[in-house]
Amino acid sequence: MAKNVQDLEIGIPRGMSYYGNYPFWHGFFSALGFKIVLSDYTTKQTVSDGSALVVTETCLPIKIYLGHIINLINKKGVKNIFVPSLQSIAPKIYNCSKIRGLPDLVRNVVKGEFNIIEPTLDKSAKKQGLYEFLAESVAPFGITDMDKIKSASKQGWRVYNNFLVMMRAGMSYKKALKNAIEGKVLIESSSKTTPINIALVSHGYNIYDERACMKIFDKLEAMGVSVATSLQLTQEQMEEGVLSLGHRVYWANEYEMSGTAGHYLKDNKIDGIITVNSFGCGPDSLMIERIMKRAKEASKPMLVLTIDEHTGEAGFITRLEAFIDMLYRKKRSKIIKDISAPEYEYTPQTNICESVLAEK
Ligand code: SF4
Repeated sequence: MAKNVQDLEIGIPRGMSYYGNYPFWHGFFSALGFKIVLSDYTTKQTVSDGSALVVTETCLPIKIYLGHIINLINKKGVKNIFVPSLQSIAPKIYNCSKIRGLPDLVRNVVKGEFNIIEPTLDKSAKKQGLYEFLAESVAPFGITDMDKIKSASKQGWRVYNNFLVMMRAGMSYKKALKNAIEGKVLIESSSKTTPINIALVSHGYNIYDERACMKIFDKLEAMGVSVATSLQLTQEQMEEGVLSLGHRVYWANEYEMSGTAGHYLKDNKIDGIITVNSFGCGPDSLMIERIMKRAKEASKPMLVLTIDEHTGEAGFITRLEAFIDMLYRKKRSKIIKDISAPEYEYTPQTNICESVLAEK
C-alpha cells in the first residue's frame, strides 16, 4: 500500500457515485496532493468488459462500473482504486445492496494487481460520520492528520458547491463539472426559452453517462426541449417532493427519483416527466410505479424508459420523439384554445431520428 508522497495516486472509475460526488472528491484528493486518474469515458468495450464479469440480470450501471475498473487497471496502470462502500447516507436511509456491496463485488470478480481503497459511509451506524469516512479514504496512504483532512474536505465542498451553483443556473453537466474542477464559477445568462419543458428523473449514472443514455440531453435539445433534473433542486425541494408523493424515504436514491418527480409534478412549467431506469433495478421499479400513479392523478404525461446493454438507439429515439410530439400537440391545442396562438410556434421539431442514424 502507498506510503510516500510520490505514491499518492488514486484511480477513480467514471461510474456510479462519480456522477454525483466527483466534484467533491476532486477538491478533496487534490488538496491532499493526490494525482487523480480517471477512467476513460464509457465505450462499447467498457460495457462488454463489465458485462462479462457478472450475471446478465445485474443492472447496467454496475456492469459499466466494472468495465471502468478494468480500464483503470489495464489501460491506465493504476494500483490504488477508489471504491467506496456507501451503505447509508442518513440515519435509516440506505443504498441498494449492489451499491453497498460494491467493494466486495469488485474484489471477487475483477482479476489483477490492484488495491481497493474502500472507506465505508454508514450514517445509520453510531459514530460514523463524514470525517471518519474521509479519514478511512486516505489512511491507506499514510495520511492521518485530521486537521489536514478537514481542510481538504472544505476544499471538496467548495468545488462541489461551485458545481451545483452552475448546474442550478442551467449549465450542462459536462460544462459545470469542467468549470468546477478548474476552480471557475461561470454563470451564463440565457434568454432562451423553449416550447417544451420536461423533467428527467433518474440517477446521475444513468443520464449523465453518454453511452448508457445515448446522449439524451443532446437529443432533447435538438427537439426544442428544456430539461430539468435533480441537480437543479435543493435537498429541501427533493424532501418536499418525496412527501408530496406520500412516500417515506428508505432508499438513498429516493431523493433523485421520488423527490425530483414529486417536485416537478407540481410545477406547472413542466409539461411532462421522463424517467430512465435500468433493467433489473428493484428500488426504481417500486418508485416509478408510485410516480406513475401520481402523474396520472395530476394529468402530467409520463414516459418510462428502461435501459440495458442491448437497448437500441433507433427504438430509444422513436419513443422519445413520440412522447415529445404528443407534448407539442397537447400544448398547442391548449394554447390555441386559450389565446388562439399561431400554430407554427408549437410545431414539433422531432425530425432528428434520420440524421442521428445517418451519422452512424
Ligand atoms: S439502485 Fe438500481 S440501478 Fe442503481 S445500483 Fe441499485 S439496482 Fe442498480
